[in-house]
Amino acid sequence: MNKIKFLGTAGARFAVSRQIRMSGGLWVTVDDTNILIDPGPGALVRCLSSKPKLNPLDLDGIILTHRHLDHSNDVNIMIEAMTNGGFKKKGVVFAPQDAYQDDPVVLKYVRDHVENIEVLKEKGSYTIGEVTFETPVKHIHGVQTYGLNIFGNNCSISYITDSKYFTGLESYYPGDILIINVVLYEERKHIQHLCLLDAEKILSANKPKLCVLTHFGMTMIKHKPWVIAEKLTKKYDVKVIAARDGMEIDIDSYLS
Ligand SMILES: [Zn+2]
Repeated sequence: MNKIKFLGTAGARFAVSRQIRMSGGLWVTVDDTNILIDPGPGALVRCLSSKPKLNPLDLDGIILTHRHLDHSNDVNIMIEAMTNGGFKKKGVVFAPQDAYQDDPVVLKYVRDHVENIEVLKEKGSYTIGEVTFETPVKHIHGVQTYGLNIFGNNCSISYITDSKYFTGLESYYPGDILIINVVLYEERKHIQHLCLLDAEKILSANKPKLCVLTHFGMTMIKHKPWVIAEKLTKKYDVKVIAARDGMEIDIDSYLS
């Protein structure tokens, strides 16, 4: 079964540091390949307390779309958990260059635990297990940041991680399943995040088979994301879901 499990749905500093919503990132299973994306604070706890439990030893790789803490906080403990404390060398870690340099979020001493450490670049193409993925464009987000297009045999998933909106952003993310990080209810000029109007622009242009909104900041949470999702579904004739902590999506059920 191809699926996406939302280990957390909080975005940006306040919703995450107050744990208004959880912040463990996404666990994606496609073609028997297990990928953890953006393991924010609590990722390990969320995996182990999931029902059924998600076993970090089953992971084939971990991807950081960027180094911000709400996307990377648990990467080191997840590397240890994926490799049985470093005793079973396996898996691949993918992250932009600045996650490895200077003040690295991927600690040097755990890098030996995994089989490969790879650097994400604009227009990059990568493999994890049976799955390929691409990082089509550099986002506007203060640190090196890349969204993902993930390709299985029968499905494609686009993940638009944090970014300020820029013209044409949507054209890079044509996946059947489109996940958008919507931190802001309304645009705030100096904050490099998508707002609800940006998300509307993207999903109405792309018309994916399913659009999932997640990574909510305080203003989105106050406006009840599930109510917003229902309105957008009617307005644009695209199935839109607001992610909930622990929610699991059966990808195949949206592809027929
Ligand atoms: Zn960020």
